[in-house]
Amino acid sequence: MTAWLTVRGNDIVRLLILFWTLPTTLIGLVTAMFWMALGAKARLAHGVLEVHGGKLAFWMMRRGFAAMTLGHVILGFSAAKLEQLRPHEHVHVRQAERWGILFIPAYLLAGLWQKVKGRHIYYDNPFEREAFAVDAMLLKLRTENKKAP
Ligand SMILES: [Zn+2]
Repeated sequence: MTAWLTVRGNDIVRLLILFWTLPTTLIGLVTAMFWMALGAKARLAHGVLEVHGGKLAFWMMRRGFAAMTLGHVILGFSAAKLEQLRPHEHVHVRQAERWGILFIPAYLLAGLWQKVKGRHIYYDNPFEREAFAVDAMLLKLRTENKKAP
């Protein structure tokens, strides 16, 4: 048997994760196609489809956010912003892989629950807090590396 026909255990796990995440990714793909019809560009990067620019940039700018993750699709204001926000958005990719079809309802309910409790719907959402924790850790590492002789 040739090497390219060999299926390893990790490949099967990866396929199961892709399948489990597929409902959310399909919503992302439909959304991506909509924005691509309005001038957005797409690229494959780090295992996800990144979509940016065109009317999507204008729409995001008007609503005050820079990126959004829907399964294995990340929509962003610009290519540069997608690169800058990649660690944060990939936390949401991992969350989508963990939660599967429940990711979007769980994310929205978690935000609403924070609002009911008198907290911030976005910044106190546990899904966002996990992503912001990664941002903070990376910032700390970069700061420490700058200080190193
Ligand atoms: Zn986020």
